[in-house]
Formats: sequence, structure tokens, C-alpha cells
Amino acid sequence: MMRGGPMGRGYLTEEEKAHRPKVTGQLLKRVFSYLKPYWKQMGLILIAIALSSLLNLYPSILTGRIIDEGLIGRSMAMLVRLILLSLAVTLGANLISVGQNYLNTWIAQHITFDMRNKMYAHLQRMSQRFFISNNQGDIITRMTSDIDGVQRVITSTFTSILSNVITLAAALATMYSRNWVLATLGVLIIPLFIIPTRRAGKTRWDLTRESQACNDAINGILNETLSVSGQTLVKLFGKEQHEYDRYKAANKKMIKLNIKESMAGRWFFMIISTFASIGPMLIYLVGGILMLRYDQNITVGDITVMVALLSRLYGPVNSLLNIQVEWIRSMALFTRIFEYFDLPVEIENDPHAITPVRTDGSVVFSHVNFSYEPDRQILHDVSFELKAGRSVAIVGPSGSGKSTIINLIPRLYDCQSGLITFGNINVKKLDLNFLRKNVGIVSQETYLFNGTIRENLLYAKPDATEEELIAACKKANIYDFIQKQETGLNTMVGNRGLKLSGGEKQRLSIARVLLKNPALLIFDEATSALDSISEAKIQEAIEPIIAQRTSILIAHRLSTILTADEILVVKDGHIVERGQHADLVRRGGVYTELYETQFKKAIAAVHSSSVLLKAPRPSPSSAENPDRS
Ligand code: ATP
Repeated sequence: MMRGGPMGRGYLTEEEKAHRPKVTGQLLKRVFSYLKPYWKQMGLILIAIALSSLLNLYPSILTGRIIDEGLIGRSMAMLVRLILLSLAVTLGANLISVGQNYLNTWIAQHITFDMRNKMYAHLQRMSQRFFISNNQGDIITRMTSDIDGVQRVITSTFTSILSNVITLAAALATMYSRNWVLATLGVLIIPLFIIPTRRAGKTRWDLTRESQACNDAINGILNETLSVSGQTLVKLFGKEQHEYDRYKAANKKMIKLNIKESMAGRWFFMIISTFASIGPMLIYLVGGILMLRYDQNITVGDITVMVALLSRLYGPVNSLLNIQVEWIRSMALFTRIFEYFDLPVEIENDPHAITPVRTDGSVVFSHVNFSYEPDRQILHDVSFELKAGRSVAIVGPSGSGKSTIINLIPRLYDCQSGLITFGNINVKKLDLNFLRKNVGIVSQETYLFNGTIRENLLYAKPDATEEELIAACKKANIYDFIQKQETGLNTMVGNRGLKLSGGEKQRLSIARVLLKNPALLIFDEATSALDSISEAKIQEAIEPIIAQRTSILIAHRLSTILTADEILVVKDGHIVERGQHADLVRRGGVYTELYETQFKKAIAAVHSSSVLLKAPRPSPSSAENPDRS
């Protein structure tokens, strides 16, 4: 946004023009509501800005007296006094500026601190739907650079409007009080300086943007063609010459642009300095004619003050011309941030939420209908009952709605109609925290934080003892692996756990859920192929766990399905069959088809893994290496 050099801030990009915010009284009121808690400090800043702007002008006015009373009046005492006064005033103005800067930064930091925290807390309350449908980059930009923008608005835009208006008004008032003819001349000169400067600034800004685009294109070519896969493609298709020509052409364009940009910069400064010196000369000329021919009262000091003040007009006028742009930008920024604040919280705690002492983890779905988007129903009249201590397996083709069913239990989404109970209480009436504490999910995609194994485990239970950690790892069948690591539980798992194999990650996440010790355990079996040893290890871990607690298994493998007390077959969001494996296979329906096409295939793997499990424990290397594949 600020790329276009010193003058770049004065122009809107096409995108900014297209998305001009609608500034309403309500929006302004809201912006000011954030400033309100700091009104005392704001008042102080106002006073400081006014004082320092006026004091800053004062030395220019004193120059007139130095010349008239000190130099022309030939008074040494006056000269020294006025010079000392001028220095003291400058020092005073600068000291006030320092204080004002501190206050300004302080307020801006506090306001953005409040906003950031509010935004973070708000985003945490957003539903799964929000995070799925919004680009993660956008969310982060909103949290970081948009809020940084607010800081900039407060520290620079607001202050600059104030100090420029005050400086301009005071300078003009002083000039007119001295001599209206010269003052008017000064005002008339301003456009002479401002118009060419802004023109040159715009040209320069356009060129900078063009060269930025060109630079992006060059980087694109480099990224594409100098990567491993890019180079392989180039080589295999014999495109070396073609790519070289493409790169060379882009490079040549860049050179031309760079030269143009640098020259535009030169012209820019030439125009500024020429016009900046024309103004004073005109004042000297007209002032001189007035003084020598027409008006005896005009002094040399008056003319000098006019010249000095004239140069003080350019800066504020230019800044104030940019204000419209800054204003639009600031309002756009606030609008974007407020849009996020206004996103409705979909899943909220009931105001009279119930927090039971304990729950048995039983689940009942009765006539549940659900859709993610209004026009596409995903679950149709789903009913089933899972009694405490029992387990169900949900099976069905990909996309049939298995994960959706389980997402409704911890209220990642709410069903549109029907009733879901957990421990015989409507989930919507249960305290959300309690509900989520008591539902543990081992999902297909294991999410681990970049940290140690221990840190990842403690996330589930921060006060877990070493013994508890080890016991959970043993149950999850991951302890052997951890022991083999040089640093044991303190082994780093890498970004998102990438240093671990899929099987190890799953077992670690089982250990994590065991530490959480939920009343209901949901195991969403990975569809991705794990080798048979990994699979057997997971199987070995979950079987006893499932036997002991209320659980739901989204199963893709026969071995998992067989552990459950009941099987629910889901197709296109309907529960089409339910019962025991032996009955279902014989029925010749969806389950039989799944069995023939999917589960049977896995039987070989299960068979080989059970053979492996029963065989003497493999040596460490042979046991772990295939796991990593
Ligand atoms: P798999 O076995 O492949 O994991 P599944 O049976 O678990 O599949 P779901 O993930 O429940 O299937 O998806 C059911 C349907 O809902 C699919 O058609 C899917 O495209 C759709 N769906 C899933 N998540 C969303 C979402 N967040 N927004 C919109 N539609 C979704």
C-alpha cells in the first residue's frame, strides 16, 4: 500500500477505488468508540500538537525581527536576545513533539492491543464453517496488517490532519496580518508548486507499481523454472532456450522500467527544487517593488518572514491533499475489521447451559437433518442410539456423511432439525466446555503442534504426571517408539508433526485423547493406506480402549468394524442398514457391496498384521522402519 515512494500514499489503486467504503455516522461512531477510553490522553495530544505547530512557526516570524530590530536596527543586545529566544522556542517545540510522539504511540498501541485481543477472542468463537470457508491467509492479514494499519492511522493520519491544519491556519493568519498583497501572492504560488509535484509524483508512483509487477513476473519465472520439478519439466520437454528467452525478455523490460523510474525520480526532485525557489524569488521581487516604490511601511523583515512562511505552506497543503486518500484508506481498514467483529457466532453456549457432575457418554440421534449449505442437505432423518459403554461403527462410501454425523456431537456444527443428546441431555443445552471436554476425537488428520512429544501430550492434560504420560503412551502403543528416541518424550515432532510417520502420529493422538479421558471416544479411522505393521499397532492400541468405553468408530477396515457392538451403514446421508456384521453381509445390500469392494481387500492386510502381532516382537529396526514409509 505504501510502496509508491514518498508521493505514493497520495493515490488510490484501482482496487481501492473499486472498494470505496461507505462512511456512515454509525461507522464513525464506532471508530470513535475505540478512541473514547483514551480521551484524556487524546486531549493532551491535541494541546501538544497545537503548541508544537505554533512554536515551530515562531522562529520564522522571529527572523523578521532579527533582521529589522537586530541587524537593520544595529542592536547587538536585541540580536542576541532574539536568536536565543528563537533557539529556545525551537527546543521547546521539539521537546513537546517528543512527548506527543510518546503519547501517540502509547494510545495507538493500547487501542490496537484491545482490538487484537477482541478479534482473537471473537475468532476463537467462530465455527468450523468459518475456518473452512475463509482463506487462512485472509484471517491472518486481518489480525496482523489490518490492525497494524489502525495503528498507523492513529499515529500518523489523525496527527497529521491536526498539525497541518493548525500550521496552515497560523501561517496564513500571520502572513495576512503582515501584508495582504504578499500573502495573496504566496497563496497563488502554491498551486504552481503543488500541481507539477503531484503530477511527477503520480508518474513515479505508476512506474514503481509497473516495475513491481514486472519484478513479480520475474520472480514467478524463477520460482517456476528453477525448482526441482520445474527444471525436470523444462529438461524433459527441451524448453531451455524458450525459458531463457522468456527470462531475458522480462529482465530487459525491468531494466527499461528501472531507468525510467530513476529518471522520473530525478525530474521529480528537479521540479520540486525549481518551483521551491521560484516562490521566494517572486515574493522578493513583488515585496521589493512594493517596499521601494509604493509602501514605506514594509520592512525587510516582513519580506523575509513572508518567504520563510511560504516554504512552511507547501508541506501542509500537500499533506492535506493526500488526506482524502488516507481517509478512504482508513475507513476501508476499519470497515474490514468491523466486518470480522460482526460475524455472527454460530455456535454459542446456551445462557442457561447445564453442567452435569458427570456424564456416561451415551449418545442419541433422533430424526436429525443437517446441511452445510442451505440448498444441499447432507444428513437425512438420522436416528441411532449409542448406550453407555457400548460402541458403534459407522461405515459407508466416501462422502456419505460419516464425519458429518460425528461433527454434530461436540457441536462443531448444529443440526437444523431433530435432536442430539449426550448423556441424555440435548447437546445444545449442555455447557459447551463440558461437552467438548467429554468428547474425544482421534481424527483422520492428526494435528500436532510444532514442539516436543511431551508438549503435545500435555495439551490434553497440562497437569499430567510423568507416570500418566507414560501410561497413556503405552496404551496407545507408541511408548516403544518414544523410548527408542534419544530424547524420549522431549523429541521434537516437527512442523505439524511431519517428523513422525502417519502411524506414529495417529498413535500419539490416541495417547493424547487418552490423557483427556473423555466419556465418549470417537475414532475416525484414516482412509489413507498405512502399512500393515502400523495398522496392526493402531488396532492393538484401540481394541482394548474401545472395549472399555463408549465409542464411535468411523471404520474403513473390517478389523475395526468387528470391534463394534453395532454397525450403522450410511449412504447419501441416510442410515440405510444397521446390525451385526454377519447379518449385514448376508443381506445383500450396501454393506455387502462395501464388504466385497473395500473391507475384503483389507482382510489380507489384517490377516498379515495379526500374524505379525502374534509373532515374536520384531527387532527395533525392522519394526520401526516400515512404519516410517
Ligand atoms: P470420507 O469417508 O471420505 O471421509 P464422509 O462419509 O466422512 O467421507 P463427510 O465428510 O461427512 O463424508 O461429507 C459428506 C458430504 O458433505 C460430502 O458430500 C461433502 O462434500 C460435504 N461436506 C463436507 N464438509 C463440508 C463443508 N464444510 N461444507 C460443505 N460441504 C461439506
